[in-house]
Amino acid sequence: MTPSWHILGAGSLGGLWATRLFRAGVPPRVILRTPQRLADYHASGGLSLIEHDRCSLYPVAAELPDARTPISRLLVACKAYDAEAAIAELAPRLVKGADILLLQNGLGSQQAIAERWPDSRCVFVSSTEGAYREGDFRIVHAGQGHNWLGAPEGRTPPSWLAELDAAGIPYAWTDDILGKLWRKLAINCAINPLSVLHDCRNGQLLTQRTSLHRLCNELGDLLRACNQAGAAEGLEDEVLRVVEATANNYSSMYQDVRNGRRTEVSFLLGQACRTAQRQGLATPELCGLLERLQAFLRRHGLPAD
Ligand code: NAP
Repeated sequence: MTPSWHILGAGSLGGLWATRLFRAGVPPRVILRTPQRLADYHASGGLSLIEHDRCSLYPVAAELPDARTPISRLLVACKAYDAEAAIAELAPRLVKGADILLLQNGLGSQQAIAERWPDSRCVFVSSTEGAYREGDFRIVHAGQGHNWLGAPEGRTPPSWLAELDAAGIPYAWTDDILGKLWRKLAINCAINPLSVLHDCRNGQLLTQRTSLHRLCNELGDLLRACNQAGAAEGLEDEVLRVVEATANNYSSMYQDVRNGRRTEVSFLLGQACRTAQRQGLATPELCGLLERLQAFLRRHGLPAD
């Protein structure tokens, strides 16, 4: 029988989705990148999910990209910079009209994938759930959140959403997924790069009110220029609310840098600056911030894209 879900990437979010589907009786197959990763996976016995300090092991089936089974629903759970190349490896297995769910943060990777595989139906996801890897194939569910799902060209909600209900995956279908993704991108652009450059927790950015104000002004102009006026409304107020509500946290970009991992800057602040340039919009604060961030990343031996 063809499994209903294939999950590309068994990292933090991929593992979180795979384990919840598995225990709801909707067993997915996870796709790992190399025979070595598959051997490591089998040695670990499956995916472990840690919730409220309790750990459960789920023997989710795993395979390589070149396995034979056709793929009719694919959840892409790689980082934005890996997603397109990862799909390309298994693309011959995609059936016509396959659903591809894209969990990537920021914007840019989703559009590239939708253009490259026009016979598939891409669903974009904006997630505020929190998960991290405590070890290989050991995922900690760290923060409750929500998933907005939608298709940019608009379509009726797919029938498989019922499987997310069964799995207890919190979601809502939206006709404005681009607005949600732009809004999240804008909040990220205001907070994350500054937290890296000032080497601080989110709360300490309250001492950078002038920078936050200027960035939010430019981001608002950018959103309006992209026909995302709704996403621009009350942006600065929400940025300040997020900074206060997450005062003790380090941003995801800060954590990537601290752990020596590549960031998704190209799909966040980089995407904002490229879009502004295409729109002929001057955004000196955003561009200056990107330059300082990229210089910082290079100094720390990390990719600047
Ligand atoms: P992650 O923990 O780094 O997991 C990414 C996974 O993709 C890794 O397991 C990696 O494999 C795998 N991968 C990369 N290339 C692959 C390939 N060619 N074939 C198969 N697997 C491949 O990342 P994440 O935190 O889950 O983030 C995924 C996306 O969700 C990002 O865009 C992120 O911004 C977004 N997001 C994450 C969270 C969160 O709380 N984690 C919340 C909201 C949004 P290896 O294990 O072999 O490296």
